Amino acid sequence: MQEDSYRHKGMRQQLVQVLKDKGITDNRVLDAIATVPRHVFLDSSFVEFAYQDKAFPIGSGQTISQPFTVAMQSQLLQVTKGMKVLEIGTGSGYQACVLAEMGAKVFTIERQRNLYLKTKPFLAEFPYNIKTFLGDGNRGLPTFAPFDRVLITAAAPEIPQALVDQLKTGGIMVIPLNDESDATKQIMLRLTKQADGTMLREEFGDCRFVPMLKGTGRD
Ligand code: SAH
Repeated sequence: MQEDSYRHKGMRQQLVQVLKDKGITDNRVLDAIATVPRHVFLDSSFVEFAYQDKAFPIGSGQTISQPFTVAMQSQLLQVTKGMKVLEIGTGSGYQACVLAEMGAKVFTIERQRNLYLKTKPFLAEFPYNIKTFLGDGNRGLPTFAPFDRVLITAAAPEIPQALVDQLKTGGIMVIPLNDESDATKQIMLRLTKQADGTMLREEFGDCRFVPMLKGTGRD
């Protein structure tokens, strides 16, 4: 793993300030972003880009989400220590590390085999409680359910019922749901599972993610 220097730490502090200026207020999220070395998730020649508030390609047509998006989703999720969190779309593994740094036990699913094969051993180098799985996130992980939180980090065409079923009562799902009136964007939703099984719905503006696909991919 690439080293984490004082220069990198300084760049992370600047990124934290940018996120505060953009409205992120949860100090536990900001502390996690100040701690997790985002540059090690990118190829070493791209270190300069790692602490800009931008998404970045990570190969296989996928991206490491923009820091603001990671911060926003983490803040909406209201994670506390010891919670079981299911993440759909492991990608680079950065979001999983931010949640784990906040004290969550993370279960993360990726559908693309090559990304899974790359990210699984990489995440094992961190001192975090993260379990990685290859599969279709639409199905969740029935064996490990129920979860306190579910985070979807790809653009979802619908709310996957299996994931609703695997959420505890009082649990929260954060999901970028396709905007029916505009195919280029999604609406960030926070869904809270009520005692009667229905979902309380809150909307948090537009966002853009790579699509959540069905089945597992070979590439
Ligand atoms: N959370 C990631 C960003 C993910 S980008 C990070 O922190 O870097 C979205 C990811 O979701 C991609 O890697 C994509 O392959 C994956 N994905 C898309 N559809 C999926 C599905 N049905 N199940 C699991 N992963 C999926």
